[in-house]
Amino acid sequence: MHQKLLKSAHYIELGSYQYWPVLVPRGIRLYTYEQIPMSLKDNPYITDGYRAYLPSRLCIKSLFILSNETVNIWSHLLGFFLFFTLGIYDMTSVLPSASASREDFVICSICLFCFQVCMLCSVGYHLFSCHRSEKTCRRWMALDYAGISIGILGCYVSGVFYAFYCNNDFAPRVVVMYVIALLAFLFYISKVPERYFPGQLNYLGSSHQIWHILAVVMLYWWHQSTVYVMQYRHSKPCPDSVSH
Ligand SMILES: [Zn+2]
Repeated sequence: MHQKLLKSAHYIELGSYQYWPVLVPRGIRLYTYEQIPMSLKDNPYITDGYRAYLPSRLCIKSLFILSNETVNIWSHLLGFFLFFTLGIYDMTSVLPSASASREDFVICSICLFCFQVCMLCSVGYHLFSCHRSEKTCRRWMALDYAGISIGILGCYVSGVFYAFYCNNDFAPRVVVMYVIALLAFLFYISKVPERYFPGQLNYLGSSHQIWHILAVVMLYWWHQSTVYVMQYRHSKPCPDSVSH
């Protein structure tokens, strides 16, 4: 057994100094930037660790190997489970104990459903971006963009519903969300930090991974803010002079 494991172990470079043993299933090998098809060439500062030319079955199997997409896939897969769990927790505990109205339940469900769709579209894209058919890759990429739009829509729905409520605690929370979103976007477009350390952040620490984690943080922050305002609304109804 030990011999067998050793035989299928494949050593990859993590950063410029360490070598990590990785178990690579038969049929999956990792490629350098020069070796991958044009459609995958997006970031020259990520020099190695690419999956490419895989059939669907091996794309799915690649979930369990270390490639330059591993953190991207798992960050949003865990993000999906986070929002799924939060959904159950909200529906069974948080909302009932805040004596939430039917509207609150609907808004909260739409918000969390959109977040989960957003996470799953991203997981799908990063899992199947290495598919051997370029058409399939393009479809998944379109779905990833659609997922981002759906995530934003989820924020928007709860934002519109609660933003005009008579308490001024909501505005700073919206500002924090925009700051996180801006920061995430800046990492996304600038390709910092790998731009300054080409080839050293192939597996860990690249801009896209930071963007992914900030996206989860942002949606989580938005969910917490929505729940906070909803609870506030029920504990302190608007004074008559403000509501009209
Ligand atoms: Zn992504």
